[in-house]
Amino acid sequence: MLKGKTAVVTGSTSGIGLAYAKIFAANGANVVINGFGPADAIEAERAGIEKSFGVKAAYDAADMTKPDEIAALITNAESTFGSVDILVNNAGIQFVSPVEEFPIEKWNAIIAINLSSAFHTIRAAVPGMKKRKWGRIINTASAHALVASPFKSAYVAAKHGIAGLTKTVALETATFGITANAICPGYVWTPLVEKQIPDQAKARGISEDEVKKFLLHEQPTQEFVTVEQVASLALYLASDGAASITGAIIPVDGGWTAQ
Ligand code: NAD
Repeated sequence: MLKGKTAVVTGSTSGIGLAYAKIFAANGANVVINGFGPADAIEAERAGIEKSFGVKAAYDAADMTKPDEIAALITNAESTFGSVDILVNNAGIQFVSPVEEFPIEKWNAIIAINLSSAFHTIRAAVPGMKKRKWGRIINTASAHALVASPFKSAYVAAKHGIAGLTKTVALETATFGITANAICPGYVWTPLVEKQIPDQAKARGISEDEVKKFLLHEQPTQEFVTVEQVASLALYLASDGAASITGAIIPVDGGWTAQ
């Protein structure tokens, strides 16, 4: 389905991003993975993708806080594979704290990684997509692009920002065969969620077990969303069948934002 296409997925060394990279590769796309982690683990994932799916996979270590490295991620992918057809903005971090104690450097880092990095990749990738008259921009937003939760001021602000960026880019690119959409997962059990449990417990004055129950309380299904469920929506959005879906902010949240 995606043979001959190239997908760049930011923040794809673990969690949702790795699932995106794998589903695109499984459907024939060459992929560029990105993100942090131990070099041997990243190389094992990269080589594993090539071996399992018979495509080319490259790793780019671009830091999503650095505009120059982000622009180079796109130009390197274009020179290695010839094009960036599918761009997935997925890198993200979380920090949980009451707003009056929220560390300024954490605010800046979350806005840079969860929001501004998507502006920089889109800015660099859109000219090639326009030239080829085909492109898919998929932004991982969050249920927090639609509703707020306390103690997540930076994350909720960044994710609402991603929704606005997605809609704007969709309007600007609509006549070029390009779509831009945002996927809004509810709680998915990944390192990002796991790491926030102790801080949530502290901020709410409850135990870590109570935090897990509290998170699932938000989701009527009472189950964590899986990375594969999120990735299968991304695959659909990348398909030609989804050519008329653009500017959409799509929940995958077990009913959370229906409440
Ligand atoms: P994760 O921690 O497993 O993955 C985050 C990825 O981003 C990793 O590959 C990490 O190395 C990378 N990353 C972090 N800082 C980076 C930087 N400066 N430069 C480059 N890469 C960087 O978390 P995840 O849950 O898979 O999160 C992926 C996306 O999904 C994020 O945007 C997150 O906000 C969003 N999301 C997650 C959930 C959830 O419940 N897990 C829910 C909604 C949205």
